[in-house]
Amino acid sequence: MDTMDAKGIKIEKTTRPKAKPDWRNLTFGHYYTDHMFVADYAEGRGWRDARIVPYAPLVLDPAAMVFHYAMEVFEGLKAYAAKDGRILLFRPWENAKRLNSSAIRICMPTYPEEGFLEAVQTLVRADADWVPRLPGTSLYLRPFMIATEPHLGVRRSNTFQLIVIASPVGAYYPEGLDPVKIYIEDEYVRAVRGGTGFTKCGGNYAASIIAQKKAEELGFTQVLWLDGVEKKYIEEVGAMNVMFKIGDEVVTPELGGSILPGVTRSSVLELLRSWGVKAVERRLSVDELHAAAKSGALAEAFGTGTAAVISPIGALSIGGELLQIADGGIGAVSRKLYDTLTGIQWGDLADPFGWTCEVGSK
Ligand SMILES: *Cc1c(COP(=O)(O)O)cnc(C)c1O
Repeated sequence: MDTMDAKGIKIEKTTRPKAKPDWRNLTFGHYYTDHMFVADYAEGRGWRDARIVPYAPLVLDPAAMVFHYAMEVFEGLKAYAAKDGRILLFRPWENAKRLNSSAIRICMPTYPEEGFLEAVQTLVRADADWVPRLPGTSLYLRPFMIATEPHLGVRRSNTFQLIVIASPVGAYYPEGLDPVKIYIEDEYVRAVRGGTGFTKCGGNYAASIIAQKKAEELGFTQVLWLDGVEKKYIEEVGAMNVMFKIGDEVVTPELGGSILPGVTRSSVLELLRSWGVKAVERRLSVDELHAAAKSGALAEAFGTGTAAVISPIGALSIGGELLQIADGGIGAVSRKLYDTLTGIQWGDLADPFGWTCEVGSK
């Protein structure tokens, strides 16, 4: 039966709910819920037909511009089940803003921020029984926008869709925080200033897989990217921003257009500063990092991102040399950041920053 929610999102509930997965073996991005959100855009008419529909394959013209020129941008955020039964989102308005800044770069229309929030909340409500409740598990939300106009000339598309799908995901660290080995990539580059590095556009990730594959073949978990011009400065890791504790300071590369402005990154910087830890955003060269590792000043290294929250780095390869970071284990700052952020996200700790947003029952 079709219903309409308060903000005008039409809701068509599935008549054939899927069997739920084994909540203990969710892994990442493997299962999808019963519903999805879709809205259509046409030049001159704007966004219309915001709706929740049963999860199903899309029907698109093979000439749709998304297939030929990678006109796609996406977001990633999670819904967390608190022990008291509330469902929480973490700073979703930041994802709404970032989706729009990505969209503008790819010449796509922006989506109203309140509409984005309403879309995400309405989908989570429709699929509330898909929000997993085991420790560390969550419902990953993947909003994305595609250019749907059938046209082979390279120009702006006139039609688009915004879609949100949801996927219950397992605990990132089923056995507890686990340090990773990172390969500093010195051949391929991810982004340059003036390019698309600051956006979550699909093309960035298509171009990164070759380096990820190379790192894995060499026995590493992930790639650390250097700047695309001089290959001298640290940028970020795979789908994570990166931070280093050098002496008493935490240093992270400054955002300069080539680095993705992570929500976790900005949350970590705010947390550190609230604890009185000096957190600096600046350029950081591989040479400086190498020297800091050699002198013992490099006390911790970690990635930050929605999926892992905090990913401690135990070792880095620099120009064929494998450098262990401190004792190769989990640093005190990494641990405290992880515990605090996950505590806030799952509603176990107070939220003095107002970062969480409850998905109301309506
Ligand atoms: C998504 C992403 C991040 C992390 O962003 P969060 O908002 O913290 O999840 C960092 N780097 C890249 C390249 C990403 O795609």
